[in-house]
Amino acid sequence: MRFRIALVVLFCCSSVRAGDEDDLQTLSRIKEEAVQKSEVMQTLSHLTDVVGPRLTNSPGYRKAAEWARVKLGEWGLEGSRLEPWGEFGRGWQVTRHSLEMTSPRYMKLTAYPKAWTKGTSGIISGKPVLVELRGEEDFKLWKGKLRGAIVMLGDPGDVDVGFEPNATRYTVEQLEELSRAPLKKPAGEKRREEFRKRRAWRSKVRKFLAEQGVAAVLESSRRRRGAVLVGSGGSRDPKEDLGLPCFVVASEQYGMLYRILEKEEPLELRVELETEVFDSDLQGYNVLAELPGSDSELQEEVVMLGAHLDSWHAGTGATDNAAGCAVVMEAVRILSALGGPFRRTVRIALWSGEEQGLLGSKGYVNRHFGDPGEGEITDEYSDFSAYFNLDNGAGRIRGIYLQGNDAVRPIFRDYMEPLEDLGVSTLSIRPTRGTDHLAFDAIGLPGFQFIQDPINYSTVTHHTNLDAYEYVPEEDLRQASAVIAWFVYRTALRDARLPRKKIN
Ligand SMILES: [Zn+2]
Repeated sequence: MRFRIALVVLFCCSSVRAGDEDDLQTLSRIKEEAVQKSEVMQTLSHLTDVVGPRLTNSPGYRKAAEWARVKLGEWGLEGSRLEPWGEFGRGWQVTRHSLEMTSPRYMKLTAYPKAWTKGTSGIISGKPVLVELRGEEDFKLWKGKLRGAIVMLGDPGDVDVGFEPNATRYTVEQLEELSRAPLKKPAGEKRREEFRKRRAWRSKVRKFLAEQGVAAVLESSRRRRGAVLVGSGGSRDPKEDLGLPCFVVASEQYGMLYRILEKEEPLELRVELETEVFDSDLQGYNVLAELPGSDSELQEEVVMLGAHLDSWHAGTGATDNAAGCAVVMEAVRILSALGGPFRRTVRIALWSGEEQGLLGSKGYVNRHFGDPGEGEITDEYSDFSAYFNLDNGAGRIRGIYLQGNDAVRPIFRDYMEPLEDLGVSTLSIRPTRGTDHLAFDAIGLPGFQFIQDPINYSTVTHHTNLDAYEYVPEEDLRQASAVIAWFVYRTALRDARLPRKKIN
């Protein structure tokens, strides 16, 4: 009788190897550390509330990078450092700004200056001039008529009362659709061409307005419900002029100003902007640190995880991307607390210059791995296993994009099997774009971005004044920390490096 029970037990467990059991015990410890001893929200609060916006090469960025460097060292990582990746250009920050309506009544307006713009040298007041610039012929219309003007550029766009919810999670159906979506040729080229055209037109408009001696420019936010979407309004190249003083105004208030002007009521505005540039060190810096590998044969091989530390400047860059940084920092804190052993070296990277075109990660990849397209690769290229990125807002992880690499499908499926209770189960062959894993993917190294619940990333927070701590769900960051720690742990321990795509 006893013999029979023993046989049954043996049979039931025969699919679980001793190594798997060790792994699953590690997973329990990872979850425990991520849930019960989490420091992820303290990290997020420091980066957003205490440091604030982290535009690359601004004092805010440097402060955040230095704080993260020290913190990673305190958590037991080795070689914590700021590593230069190439020349970025000058830093910029706002020291004072205000936009007020003084007639037909007083009202303080919600408006934020664009980055890399110059100040107004004091207060400017006056009636704004509504200017539409749709093509070159409009330049002739306005030539010589705008000296010293406060220009309202363009109309406020369509009214949207907002029937759609701000925050959403992926439904089961949406995730299924994502997992079945075929690998398509990236539709990128046409979109990139349109983007280049729009950018070229914007810089032409800026140049024209500067030549006309315009005093300040106001534009309507392209987001609704008080969210002000702000990017760059000038050049970070110290050899070029800064942009004109330029504010993006909350769309509801821009609409109000526009309608008052249309009625020919006596509209008066008061504008003030002070900005500061920093050009003593034009280098860009990423933050890097390691948990050294324990296996003498594999410790030269590296598994990386990362997120970009830089942000735009109107909000505090909470979902883009202090959340991602807090999570990857938490993941290495958890791994460090477990104490290893990790066969391969685990390296964390907090990138800069992401918002200006993935510059920090591209610079890193360039310096460390060489250029396989030119037939020049380094030992580091050969020894690289994988890079895991987090940069799609503050939502929990629901799966991972395979980035067109079917060979990793069974491996990631195996990683995800014990994560079902965390809601992580989707594999999508689709490549996803727009963030730092692309720098690795571009040279044939396995680089991945996770599938994250959208929450309110594209509706409210992304690049806006509302990108704040309040929009980051704590539970989602704890979940993501455990998931990334687990992916990195498994990748650092497996016998082989992750398989690579064939590059054309
Ligand atoms: Zn981002």
